[in-house]
Amino acid sequence: MIDLKMRQAEPVEISAVIPVYNEAENLTALYAELTAALPAITARYELIFVDDGSRDGSYGVLQELHVADKRVKVVRFRRNFGQTAAFAAGFDFAQGELIVTLDADGQNDPADIARLVEKLRAEQLDMVVGWRVDRQEGFLRRLLSQSANLIISRVTELAIHDRGCSLKVFRAELVKSIQIYGELHRFLPEMASTVGARVGEAPVNDRSRRFGKSKYGAFSRTPRVILDLITVFFLLGFFRSPMRLFGAIAIISGTLGVLIDGALALTKLVHGLLGGWAAFHAYAIGGRPLFFLGFLLILVSMQFLVMGLLGEMIMRTYYESQNKPIYFVREVLE
Ligand code: UDP
Ligand code: MG
Repeated sequence: MIDLKMRQAEPVEISAVIPVYNEAENLTALYAELTAALPAITARYELIFVDDGSRDGSYGVLQELHVADKRVKVVRFRRNFGQTAAFAAGFDFAQGELIVTLDADGQNDPADIARLVEKLRAEQLDMVVGWRVDRQEGFLRRLLSQSANLIISRVTELAIHDRGCSLKVFRAELVKSIQIYGELHRFLPEMASTVGARVGEAPVNDRSRRFGKSKYGAFSRTPRVILDLITVFFLLGFFRSPMRLFGAIAIISGTLGVLIDGALALTKLVHGLLGGWAAFHAYAIGGRPLFFLGFLLILVSMQFLVMGLLGEMIMRTYYESQNKPIYFVREVLE
């Protein structure tokens, strides 16, 4: 009895978080692979399956797994909220010190988890992401994904080869301190780096989906990813000081506008000085395209200035009303 209690009180070491959307046929095999791979790392693990509104009996399979093995925990959504929401729910429920995420469709290989965890510990990283070196997907899909990763690495200055791989390991405290929305689970490395995480990557095995088909088309996710990239770019660089971004645009556009319209006014003046009143009147600048461009730039500049001020106000409300920290401490020596 005592032994059992003590064992229950032991903290969980690894929580695996698995989003599930219509994956009934894949779940048993995945469970078998996980329970073969995880005990080699630790006995203190839990499997958190997040059923993202499946309609194919996935929940029934998960219920059976849960009854047979108390390490299996299941969170069931009321409807389909998407993969990011499923990850977020899994993170909220996870009790482990480390969190591992992977797909339910068998594309990620649980045998790789040990290597990622080892790398995280050995190099004292906060996050290790899987890199599918030999991807088992169509050429188009690979091309899109690789170019996206290249662009994102450039924009965010975080050189990672593969953001689309679900197999990742994090320190739980890290992942709990970041908020993800939309399709932002793809940008977890970037989101994590906003709080100062040390991010690494390790090659992993990529396999084909066992049953069912992908929940996304090759093109349907591209626009969403681009929009999220813009969000991440903003969050990374300017969330804490929106005025720096909007103010810079305002200054550039305002200066250009004043220069253009100023130059026009100057030519009119010069005409007046040289030719007198008549020439001054005859030289019209009010209808010229350049005049309108300058006018527009000045207006836009004011708009951006006001946007920057509003952004600053919203940012202050965000931090002050919720007592959000503006810093994240790694260690304290007292
Ligand atoms: N998934 C989910 N909710 C969704 C879409 C997908 O939970 O709305 C899960 C899905 O069951 C799988 C993982 O997210 O475990 C990745 O989805 P999928 O394999 O379709 O994406 P791909 O591997 O093609 O990127
Ligand atoms: Mg998949």
